[in-house]
Formats: sequence, structure tokens, C-alpha cells
Amino acid sequence: MSFSPSNAGLSESMSALAGTIGSQRAGSFAQLGATFLTRLPAAPLPAPYVVGFSAETAALLGFDPSIAQDPTFAEFFSGNTTRDWPSQALPYATVYSGHQFGVWAGQLGDGRALGIGEVEHDGRRLELQLKGGGRTPYSRMGDGRAVLRSSIREYLCSEAMHHLGIPTTRALCVTGSDQPVRREQVETAAVVTRVAPSFVRFGHFEHFYSNDRVDALRSLADHVIERFYPALKDADDPYLALLGEAVRSTADLMVEWQAVGFCHGVMNTDNMSILGLTIDYGPFGFMDAFDANYICNHSDNQGRYAYRMQPQIAYWNLFCLAQGLLPLFGERYEESERGERAVKDAQHVLEGFKARFAPALERRMRDKLGLETEQPGDDQLANSLFEIMHANRADFTLTFRNLARMSKHDASGDAPVRDLFLDRAAFDTWAAGYRTRLAMETRDDASRAIAMNRVNPKFVLRNHLAETAIRKAKEKDFSEVERLAAVLRRPFDEQPENEAYATLPPDWASSLEVSCSS
Ligand code: AMP
Ligand code: MG
Repeated sequence: MSFSPSNAGLSESMSALAGTIGSQRAGSFAQLGATFLTRLPAAPLPAPYVVGFSAETAALLGFDPSIAQDPTFAEFFSGNTTRDWPSQALPYATVYSGHQFGVWAGQLGDGRALGIGEVEHDGRRLELQLKGGGRTPYSRMGDGRAVLRSSIREYLCSEAMHHLGIPTTRALCVTGSDQPVRREQVETAAVVTRVAPSFVRFGHFEHFYSNDRVDALRSLADHVIERFYPALKDADDPYLALLGEAVRSTADLMVEWQAVGFCHGVMNTDNMSILGLTIDYGPFGFMDAFDANYICNHSDNQGRYAYRMQPQIAYWNLFCLAQGLLPLFGERYEESERGERAVKDAQHVLEGFKARFAPALERRMRDKLGLETEQPGDDQLANSLFEIMHANRADFTLTFRNLARMSKHDASGDAPVRDLFLDRAAFDTWAAGYRTRLAMETRDDASRAIAMNRVNPKFVLRNHLAETAIRKAKEKDFSEVERLAAVLRRPFDEQPENEAYATLPPDWASSLEVSCSS
């Protein structure tokens, strides 16, 4: 069954686009039904305008990029036409639970995100979600809104992460409205249209486990397997194999985050994607000065989600997922021994995290150091670099980027990295060891530099860059949002015209604070 929701007031081309988005397709999450979601219209936003638009994400969806100029584009993607949709096709908020800061939080759910359906293009099916679309039955004390500031950050960062090669939800656009939203201060409302193959979180599984709904748990797991890992249907234990995929993709994601100095900030189990995507950008941060204990979320007093903790926390979160899936494991065993064997199996699969993460991070560190071969002591070389970076609060991105300028022959190219360290002697000691190691490599300086520049980005979404774009956007000048997005679309390129986006943060940046409030 398929609907073309009536979208009164939309232009013809926006109506046509709206008609391609639907939640009625067989196999879509929304078709799982009322146990999993509540359908309701978005709360309209007055006089919405376009703040940011990713032509690339549009192309992914098969949308003509000129659609952003359509005068009714912002109306649609602010959810303003959804009140006219038939009840079976309305947007939907999904229910999930989760562990927040290590503590079971019970039911949470999409408190401000509304699925509007999915689009199939080029053999890919992608779901669309309006984040900030108004209150839902899962909003608890929240207002269902997102503010312009955090919406711009999510838009910029999710697109930037994608271009760094890091699995993530994408963003199609940000629309804004002058409607006031109360946070620590009064801000204004915005909606990010997020795009992903699936928004299923660890917390979705935990929810049905904690409510003793094994039937629903199975439907959910079957949905994910059918859509994303159909080959697992033939596995000895498909649900255990699904846990294995989550272990794999989550371990891989942690390698990516650690390797660029990205901190998520709120790694609660409800913010963990079953597909290993970076999801729910809130108080995230890319480190400027390296601090292994860096806490990007001002509200995280204990440092639970500090940079160096992230892989461990991911592992902990996977245990929660495993517990949620537990009733489905071991169907092939005799009833009498099933419980015990299922737990053993799950533990074995979870062990796979360490087996995958550690060697993958070591491999990535060798790439970042420009080492083609594997030698004893490589791990120590990388760790001692992190140690002096930490002691000197050396800039994460610039340190790695500038390493490519060092020569294996002499210190002639050391200055761009060396100057980032107050303790020059400590750097020189490390550099001597690095050069000794480089001498074991056959590659010349130039080709090593090319390879290193492909893994060590020059441009990341530093806090102060986002802040500058946000300050201008608050004055209704959205040009910096798009300019910054364009720079971050080519993070590994030199871009000499954009040198200002690759420099150390200005002094005022150190006073920026990012909290959970978004
Ligand atoms: P987070 O940890 O920020 O991803 O959010 C945790 C929970 O709070 C999720 O269920 C969100 O949907 C919900 N939430 C966060 N902010 C709001 C808001 N302004 N209004 C309603 N629900 C919210
Ligand atoms: Mg969340």
C-alpha cells in the first residue's frame, strides 16, 4: 500500500518530491507497527527558512539539488505539511530505552525526532527523520525542539564525518524559524533532516528485552537482519551473528573516532547505532590540544565519556546490547542447557571486540605515521607520540598532519610539528626514534607524505569554526555554514585558499563550553 500524502500548499515539484518519501514500503521500520512507534504530525514552525542544505545528501536520495531553492522546501522539511497526512502515513516517533551514564534509564524514545519515511534510490533505501519536529509521547520533560546552534553543529559534523570516511548518519538540510526555544538562554528553533539506512539503536533492543517482549525483540532483530545482513539468515545462530556484526562495526567506529580525536560526548546505549554509525550529535568535539582525558561534554562531571574511555565504553555498551538480545540466542540448543550456552556464546562474540579493535587501531596508527611495514616497537612509537602530545597539549590534527613534512634523512622538515611542542627536547627525542624507524621503510619522503595526507586530515570541525558559523547564522547570515561545509567536504586536500580553517584555535575558543543542552 502506498500513499502520496496530501501536502497542501507545496509547489508541484515539492509535492512530487514529498510523494517519493513514504513509510508504507514493505520491510521499512515503520511497517513494524504500533508496538515500535507512535504516529503523529510534526508541530509546525512559523515562517521557516533554509539554513543549510547538502546537495550531496540530496543526490544520495535522488533529489534534484535545485529543490532547496523551492519556496516551499523549508515548509516541508520543517514538518509543516504533515498535519494533512492520512493517519496511516503520519510521521512516527519510535520507542526505545537505554543506559544513560552507566545507569539503566528505562524508557526513552524519540523525544524530538520524527521519521517521515524512506526513499529508495540507486538500490539504496534511506530513512529520513526530522530532528526537532515537536513533542512526541516520548518527550518526557522536553519540548521536542532542537535549537539552531546544535542543529548547525549536527549538520556540519555529520557531513564532515562522512567525508573523513567515518560511518555516520547524514544530514540533508537544516531549516530554522524565529520561534523562541528556552535553554540556558532563549534561542531559536531549527530542524535537521537526518538521513540514514536505519536509526535503530542498541536501546531499541534493550527496550523490548526489559519489557519481556521477546516477540517484538525478534521482529526487530529480523528487520535489521533482513535489511542489512540478509546473509546472516543462514548462520547457525542469526541473532548471535547480528551481535557479531554490531561488535565488528562498533569496534571499527571506535578506531575511526580515536584516530581523528573525535569525542562523541554522550555514549549512552540509546545513542549507539546498531549499524555502527555515528549518531546523535550533541556535545561532541574534535580535540584541538591533545588531552587523553579530554571531556567534550561539560555535563559529564565524572569523565565517563572522556576521549580515552570511548573504546571501553563502546565495549560496555555492547554488553548491554548482548543482554538485550539474549532471549534470542541459542535456539538450536536443548532447552535445559540453552541459557548457559547462550551466555557463553554471547561472551565469546563480545570478546571479538578486543580482537578486532586493538590490531585495527595499531594498523591505523602505522598508517598515520606513514609506516608501510609492521615492526616490533611500532605500538610504542605511537604511544610515546601520544604521551608527548598529551604532556605538551599539542594540537591533535596539526601534529599528525605535519608529521608528513618530516624527512627520514634529517631534521629539515621537523619544524612544523616540533613548533607544536613546548618541550622541544622531548620532541627531538621522539623524532630521532621516528627517523630510525623510517629508515627501515623503502618509501621515499614524497610518496610517504602523499599516503599520510590521505589518512591525517588537515580540516576537522573545530569548535571555534562551528561557533563562528553559528554566530553568523544567528544574525541570519548562513553563508559561513555553507562555506565551512564546503571546506570540510575535502578534509584531506591542502586547500591553500582555506588555510585559516586549519590553524590553531584563537584564544577566545578556550572559553567555549558544550553541554548536553541542545
Ligand atoms: P540524547 O542523550 O541527547 O540523545 O537524548 C536522550 C533522550 O532525551 C532521547 O530520548 C531524546 O529524544 C530526548 N530529548 C533530548 N532533548 C529533547 C527535547 N528537547 N525534547 C524532547 N526530548 C528530548
Ligand atoms: Mg539520543
